[in-house]
Amino acid sequence: MTKLQAFLQAEIEAHGPLDIARYMELCLSHPKFGYYMTRDPLGSAGDFTTAPEISQLFGEMVGLWLAQVWMDQGAPAQVHLVEFGPGRGTLMRDILNTARRIRGFSEALEVWLIETSPVLRDAQSDSLQTNARWIDGIAEVPSGPILAIGNEFLDALPIQQYQKIDEIWFKRTVKVADDGRFVFGPSKLQPGEAPPETPPLPDGTIVEACPTAENIVGQLSKRLADQGGAALFIDYGEMSGTGDTLQAVRAHQSQHPLEHPGDADLTAHVNFGAVSAAVHPDCVTHFTEQGAFLATLGIGQRAAALAKDKPETITRDLAASLNRLTAEDQMGKLFKVMSITPKKAPSPPGFPNDT
Ligand code: SAH
Repeated sequence: MTKLQAFLQAEIEAHGPLDIARYMELCLSHPKFGYYMTRDPLGSAGDFTTAPEISQLFGEMVGLWLAQVWMDQGAPAQVHLVEFGPGRGTLMRDILNTARRIRGFSEALEVWLIETSPVLRDAQSDSLQTNARWIDGIAEVPSGPILAIGNEFLDALPIQQYQKIDEIWFKRTVKVADDGRFVFGPSKLQPGEAPPETPPLPDGTIVEACPTAENIVGQLSKRLADQGGAALFIDYGEMSGTGDTLQAVRAHQSQHPLEHPGDADLTAHVNFGAVSAAVHPDCVTHFTEQGAFLATLGIGQRAAALAKDKPETITRDLAASLNRLTAEDQMGKLFKVMSITPKKAPSPPGFPNDT
């Protein structure tokens, strides 16, 4: 039994079943035994790999996007560049390398990192070697425009699950079975807890909500509406949807979400429709697939430029990375990109379906 398993079991015995959000939060962020608090989960030796870890091409395109938005909003002399869940700091490093090639941009940037994991804070400090500062949330960023990014951040935030059984909504919770294993089971909604608002759904349907993501996006977009800037979130998910998307990954293998608590990464698909509904009315959102976003920003041309006159090992690597990031059967379609910009600002680049 892992230490976290023992802790969760004691919690359930003392206070009753854990709802999914609390289970996810404890698994990922328990101060002593939480998954992110105790390790660097990224890369081939870890549990999963992300777009910035695949190739610098990804961070370069995000850097160009940020630079274009900055110029479109009048190239302010000071702008806060905020990253949510920066992992090893690789995306920020590649963004800053790109920013140095754009006149005035890198000089304007103040870097802020929002990261819970002490292990990853250390990794970020090593890879950035810059004056980044670590904070707990957007409220700590001093006044001024903000450029915010988050890659595979929203999917790590705790979700709540609800299930309709015989026309009554229950919360999906984690219980301890007679044989001591963790199992899912329905629990009554507490007084004051509202069921999710949905159109009519078949009995048994599971519906998810991510109040933490909605709060973060609500607060951030209010700030963007008031003081300018933009945000870009990249993650797997859909515009809408029902069903159970809670998933666990360990050593690049999918696991049951109740096995190895604290030793497996737990995520859920992002419901971008619900997230964009939380955006402040003075902001607009744009939405597309990662493949289309990167292609529109010129990732193909950039890969070709990097490959020019290089040995075959490098050109083959670049082609493979480009394929992984953009192909429909790789990350190109499953991963989505959502931007948030003030209504009064020009439309951001990278969204080919804009009319
Ligand atoms: N963006 C990185 C890492 C993605 S993994 C990349 O693309 O490689 C998720 C990241 O979010 C990790 O850095 C993790 O420690 C961080 N994280 C998870 N929950 C968080 C929370 N509630 N607040 C801040 N950071 C969080």
